[in-house]
Amino acid sequence: MKNLPSAPQWETPLLKPHGLGDLNKFGRRTARRDLIEAIDGVSVHELVEAYGSPVFVTSERRLRENIRKIRRAFDSRWPDVVHGWSYKTNYTTAICNILHQEGSIAEVVSGFEYDKARHNGVAGHDIIFNGPNKKRVQLERAIDEGAMIHVDHFDELALIGDIASERRQNVRLALRLTFDTGFTEAWSRFGFHLESGQAHEAARRIAAHPYLQLHGLHSHIGTFILDPRAYESQVKIMCGFMREVEAGQDHLIDYIDIGGGLPSRNALQGVYQPPQQAVPDLDDYAEAICGALARETQYRLDAGQKRPRLIFESGRAVVDDAQSLIASVCGLKMLPDGRRSAILDAGVNVLISARN
Ligand SMILES: *Cc1c(COP(=O)(O)O)cnc(C)c1O
Repeated sequence: MKNLPSAPQWETPLLKPHGLGDLNKFGRRTARRDLIEAIDGVSVHELVEAYGSPVFVTSERRLRENIRKIRRAFDSRWPDVVHGWSYKTNYTTAICNILHQEGSIAEVVSGFEYDKARHNGVAGHDIIFNGPNKKRVQLERAIDEGAMIHVDHFDELALIGDIASERRQNVRLALRLTFDTGFTEAWSRFGFHLESGQAHEAARRIAAHPYLQLHGLHSHIGTFILDPRAYESQVKIMCGFMREVEAGQDHLIDYIDIGGGLPSRNALQGVYQPPQQAVPDLDDYAEAICGALARETQYRLDAGQKRPRLIFESGRAVVDDAQSLIASVCGLKMLPDGRRSAILDAGVNVLISARN
């Protein structure tokens, strides 16, 4: 027996978030050991015992704190702000409902998500119906229920126009716009292109239609946007278009929806600075957005008119750092270069840093 080689020592792998003061992944390895043994006071072991592994855990406390903090930043700077929870970011029923309790309406991009929001008790008029693939039956339902329909392209606009004409029913619409802010890469797949005149043409067709009215403008300029000036540019461009559109119709635009894109405070793959350095304050974003909105809609006040409502659709900044993934190591592997890799039951492998 005593000739047997001793069994290799088991070491728990060290996984830790990238934090302030750490070097990036090309630099020195961190020495601090941040073992997370509990999430919001509930032990990780108990969670795994109760729900198995792997398991996603969401902190309700953090989720509520996040949305309240974001809301405060905007509410304190603009008189009429609405947050639309982007269902595609996370459509777990409990998460959606917590956000609806906090006052968020629903932003959906498919019939499936629309139904889900209705099942969650969201009224049709509190649903923003986005997405490039809205079926006729879904549009008919959305019209019946008074949803905010954000039109993505000309064929969809024609379909909605047909439905409205068949029914002789007025339908309020918003246009999804795409344009270059000069800061982010334009997401040109979705919406009407502004610079080429598509968006103007869409607004003209709506104005010329007996049953359609344009009431909102929407754009989503990207995600994890690290420069608040991108939003300033976005708001400026949207307000410029709003003014032009209002000149060609007999009513005002009710709302401007700036989409999502605020960065979370989690470290993102590919961002090597820790989030505390890389991510500006929420207040910087709210200030850039609301400041631009105030300047660009001053003409309304001068004319004794109401300012537009501001809608924003922050997704990841609300939920990202409220979630943890608990996984278990189911095996260890030696890689050809000598490094060790842990195989996790969550379907990922992680390199294990040496302890120091
Ligand atoms: C994905 C998406 C959002 C949420 O984006 P985040 O970057 O997570 O804030 C909001 N609006 C639309 C239209 C989206 O597609």
